[in-house]
Amino acid sequence: MLHRYDTVIVGAGLAGMRAALEAKKGGSCCILTKVFPTRSHSGAAQGGIAAALGNAGEDDWTLHMFDTVKGSDYLADQDAVEILVREAPGTIIELEHMGVPFSRTPDGRIAQREFGGHLRQRACYAADLTGHVLLHTLYEQCLKEAVTFYPEYHVLSLVIAEGACRGVVALEILTGELHTFLARAVVFATGGYGRAFKITSNAHANSGDGLSILYRAGLPLEDMEFVQFHPTGFYPSGILVTEGARGEGAYIINGQGERFMKRYAPDRMELAPRDVTSRAIQTEIDQGRGINGGAYVHLDLRHLGPDKIMKSLPQILDLAMRFTGVDALKEPIPIQPTAHYSMGGIPTDNNGRVLLNHAGAVAQGLYACGECACVSVHGANRLGCNSLLDAVVFGTRAGRAVLADLPAIPRGDAPPDSEDAVRKELRLLLDREGNESLAAIRDDLQTGMQKNCGIFRSDSLLRAQLAAIGTLRGRFERVRLHDRGARFNTELMELIELRSLLDFTELIVRGALLRTESRGAHSRTDHPTRDDARWLTHSFARHTPEGPVCDYAPVRITRYEPKERKY
Ligand SMILES: Cc1cc2nc3c(=O)[nH]c(=O)nc-3n(C[C@H](O)[C@H](O)[C@H](O)COP(=O)(O)OP(=O)(O)OC[C@H]3O[C@@H](n4cnc5c(N)ncnc54)[C@H](O)[C@@H]3O)c2cc1C
Repeated sequence: MLHRYDTVIVGAGLAGMRAALEAKKGGSCCILTKVFPTRSHSGAAQGGIAAALGNAGEDDWTLHMFDTVKGSDYLADQDAVEILVREAPGTIIELEHMGVPFSRTPDGRIAQREFGGHLRQRACYAADLTGHVLLHTLYEQCLKEAVTFYPEYHVLSLVIAEGACRGVVALEILTGELHTFLARAVVFATGGYGRAFKITSNAHANSGDGLSILYRAGLPLEDMEFVQFHPTGFYPSGILVTEGARGEGAYIINGQGERFMKRYAPDRMELAPRDVTSRAIQTEIDQGRGINGGAYVHLDLRHLGPDKIMKSLPQILDLAMRFTGVDALKEPIPIQPTAHYSMGGIPTDNNGRVLLNHAGAVAQGLYACGECACVSVHGANRLGCNSLLDAVVFGTRAGRAVLADLPAIPRGDAPPDSEDAVRKELRLLLDREGNESLAAIRDDLQTGMQKNCGIFRSDSLLRAQLAAIGTLRGRFERVRLHDRGARFNTELMELIELRSLLDFTELIVRGALLRTESRGAHSRTDHPTRDDARWLTHSFARHTPEGPVCDYAPVRITRYEPKERKY
């Protein structure tokens, strides 16, 4: 079935919906999403969204910029960071005017709390439900502006004609029918890829489909080796305990009852950035100082008192009880690091236009924003609360770029065979005979990534993982599906998601193997120091018939020269 829109947006998280509100001003606009819009992972964000409002003490954008650049281990592009932090206060006010119910100070201003790596109190929040209220507010705005939604449409590939992106092909999950959405502009806002790891805070839908679709179409992916592990996931599930808990004053304690962060980040303690804190926790666990020698430590809220906990962290209380059986008012919560955020992704310029190569050429008609994109404002390690901000600021900018570009983009026709290749591929996956189980391959992939490409990496671990991915690819070719029907074939969807996991985990591992240094979240035990002379560069991985190859591009430094990073 054929549909025509001026702009098609893939993804109904904060980035996609914010872009839609701009793009809609230039003509018809629809959003395709494989889950219902308000189930997008943005809704799970708890802690807050950063902006130098200065409501809790002196602050300004230059301080926010310095914290972000330092947090990124100097890999962020500083012109992009400057845009992010300068546009942050206006963005918060705009969200507030759209109806976001932020928590308040006693005198009625937007309340702000501490967060890791931010030296000022600049996280704006709505208790510990910040993403939930942001997502619902933007959904209401999109409905008000008559943006059309196609919920439970799984996008599978791009439509490309005469070198330009002309739309996408999607599977309607309910019926199994294919649909071609022709567009003058296509915006990818497909979110992150935490599902590549066994222990993750991410939703099941976060399988990095958008990255794989573009990579398969020949476009590069940037800085894929940088994956963030959040220090505090519940043990054993990996579900998140917001950094807001430590922002409110929670302690992290090892099996010897010690606030061990004093040995790793004496100034910032529990509020050091995530890469530093996750490494510290993992080191304590690896050296046998977990609780009872186990693979977890404790997050202790008790000294904050019931009033503060119930007012500022109500969801954490509830989640702790549901997922660990712990009453956090009375007992400490068992926690472990959990795969959380993808710093890398689809390379874009500062206005969301997708880059064709590391030299800066842009693809016609193709845009990306939010966690699937790499602008790069987070470099080698993102600071908490900067990604909701990234999604909204660069979602807005991508939408505005669409608006500016639309008049010059002609309406094209779909190539007559736009759905043929996809239909053939799906048939092949559905009809395949074999003895492999999809769930077993996914489990082996996630477990291997956790062990070999996790918080600490080394040449031998990464080589082992690369070989394992090769074997898993072979097994993938022998997966037999139990469900071969058309309607609501979630097994087929999971198979397509697994294919995308196999695509980009190879890029994460190859990028990590090549990068013989430690920077931000990428920590090599065999190359423990940062090497600016060789590696102050972004990586760009491209698909070739012989396998992925990496090019490198310089980091844009405008204000802050790289220095040693201490907290
Ligand atoms: C538990 C948790 C807590 C967090 N807390 C915070 C926080 O407090 N502060 C902060 O700044 N950041 C936080 N983050 C990070 C932040 O929430 C995300 O980076 C951000 O919300 C991503 O927004 P997005 O719009 O890019 O993607 P998402 O909100 O993930 O949306 C992705 C969309 O893409 C769609 N999609 C994907 N693939 C396809 C496909 N093939 N076809 C069709 N649709 C597709 C999905 O259906 C979905 O609608 C948190 C993340 C997690 C996991």
